[in-house]
Amino acid sequence: MEKELLVYINGKYYPKSQAKISVYDHGLLYGDGIFEGIRAYNGIVFKLKEHIDRLYRSAKVIMLDIPLTKEEMINAVLQTLRKNNLRNAYIRLVITRGIGDLGLDPRKCTQPTIIIITDVIKLHATEAKEKGIRALIVWVKRDPVDATSHEVKSLNYLNSILGKIEANIAGFDEAICLDRNGYVCEGVAENIFIVQNGTIITPPTSTGALKGITRDFVIRLARGLGYEVIEKNVTPSDLFTAEEVFFTGTAAEIVPVVEVNRRVINDGKPGSITRRLMEEFVKRIGDPKEGVSIY
Ligand code: PMP
Repeated sequence: MEKELLVYINGKYYPKSQAKISVYDHGLLYGDGIFEGIRAYNGIVFKLKEHIDRLYRSAKVIMLDIPLTKEEMINAVLQTLRKNNLRNAYIRLVITRGIGDLGLDPRKCTQPTIIIITDVIKLHATEAKEKGIRALIVWVKRDPVDATSHEVKSLNYLNSILGKIEANIAGFDEAICLDRNGYVCEGVAENIFIVQNGTIITPPTSTGALKGITRDFVIRLARGLGYEVIEKNVTPSDLFTAEEVFFTGTAAEIVPVVEVNRRVINDGKPGSITRRLMEEFVKRIGDPKEGVSIY
């Protein structure tokens, strides 16, 4: 029988089929918690420190005291990968408010639940990367920054899931969400970029978009290649008439978008700047300088 992957829960390791938490955990009852999705390439955990920094920022906003230092958290992630003998992996780090009673008061939860899942990575369909995907602007608006916006990477993903459902039922590959003012915000689990007159533009996080780690990396990558990159509000019309559109994210990496609400972007093929960035991205992700070594 194949050996089961081990999952870290509060300092202990459990085989995947035994890795369980209480039904009284407020992560389940209320979505009260935070998470990070992280990837390892070739023995290097890409941008691990940045993910841990974001996790602790999210924790601070929701007033959740993580009982581990950042250093200890990094070691727990690396240790879990080593236990599972993984060099290429998807890592899901989840911290919930912990076990409480049936009321929502977080004061009842005395100990956060820390979960680290490391699993083999399912490669994204190369066809999507090569040909690009079709996206739909959906009716589900992103919550503004004074609500449960994706500025905090919380366990409340219903907003994104509703967006995804709309794209699914309409037969599109992915959803694009607008903010309350009608500006383009992001995808359901990806940031969005457009190219307009040769300039790369991405919506500011004030739209409620997550400050994506891939987004930051791609901005730096593009600037390093000599492209102008600016953060600016993007309208649906800007999207429809863009020279190029692409998504970025830990799972998605960089994915070209070739159609938005049935408007074909440019000639309907992934654009040259997008392809250039994808090539450079692949070269850089396994670079030890861009992450933390597992072994
Ligand atoms: N926006 C949302 C809502 C997300 O869930 C994600 C995935 N974490 C992203 C953007 C992309 O962020 P990152 O590049 O850090 O994965």
